[in-house]
Amino acid sequence: MSFKMAVSGAMSVALSVGALLSVNAQAAEEVNLYSARKEALIKPLLDRFTEQTGITVNLVTGNADALLKRLQSEGRNSPADLLITTDAGRLYRAREAGVTQAVVTEALTQAVPEAYREPEGHWYGLSLRARPIFYVKGKVSPEELSSYEDLADPKWLGRICIRSSGNVYNQSLVASMIAHSGSEKSEQWASGLVKNFARSPKGGDRDQIKAAAAGECDIAVANTYYYGAMLNAKGEAERQAAEKVAVFWPNQSDRGAHVNVSGAALTAHARNRDNAVKLLEFLVQPDNQSWYAEVNYEYPVRDGVAWSDLLQQWGRFKSDNLNLSQLGKNNSLAVMIMDRAGWK
Ligand code: FE
Repeated sequence: MSFKMAVSGAMSVALSVGALLSVNAQAAEEVNLYSARKEALIKPLLDRFTEQTGITVNLVTGNADALLKRLQSEGRNSPADLLITTDAGRLYRAREAGVTQAVVTEALTQAVPEAYREPEGHWYGLSLRARPIFYVKGKVSPEELSSYEDLADPKWLGRICIRSSGNVYNQSLVASMIAHSGSEKSEQWASGLVKNFARSPKGGDRDQIKAAAAGECDIAVANTYYYGAMLNAKGEAERQAAEKVAVFWPNQSDRGAHVNVSGAALTAHARNRDNAVKLLEFLVQPDNQSWYAEVNYEYPVRDGVAWSDLLQQWGRFKSDNLNLSQLGKNNSLAVMIMDRAGWK
């Protein structure tokens, strides 16, 4: 009797240890994501990923520069497996800071065109962001426009709105110019452009479009997703401002319009490496690409994925296919050039 009890006691202990182990094994199926994108722009996709794979995604969202600092200070103790952030300039900084690691899989290299990923696999573009020229309809005709270079022409004196040089988007634009035309020409260009400013740079990209709509300038440079958001804004004033301007795709007869990415990098000390790679691969699948691009009025990074109706209205365009890691490499030179040109 007592022997039997002892056995069953041992068995129940063994069972509960087994049950505990399996609970632990399940709990380990997770991936920790640091995202500089707002929760609404990524969470529904992450939920879909969890539904399909059973892998829990622990999401930490924050400011892009703050998340990078956090990764650096956490070092090898960082719980993060994957970093999602915007701008190739920032992705480059993350790589330079040593917080990323290379990963190369066929699914990733097939999905993401070469220009939009780091050559060794330290980061991959997830969506494309275009930075064309906007002109006030009725005031400027598209025939007068041609290229970014042309914006330095004296005919645009006092007619251009663009944000400050402190912003990475303009730094990346100048960095692309350096890659194509060299630093000397880029500096001449920047000096000419600054002379054409309608006002001392202030505000974000939306503010440049608003200023153009309000008559402060005839031309604005901005990322198209801001324009998309304004066209669909709840506030009527934003919508009306956006409706006063149109997109012009510059440099279509040469290198193409300047583009940048939002992208993801596997962290240097990822503990859930396999799950992180699974999530990365999931994000570049065609369905997820279209959702991710559409929700923020961006373009899919993957070729052959359908564009939203709104994006199609703005027209197809040739994009610069410079490898975007060049933007990071030229960043400090770009900042110096903008500074020397007097670009506030
Ligand atoms: Fe932005």
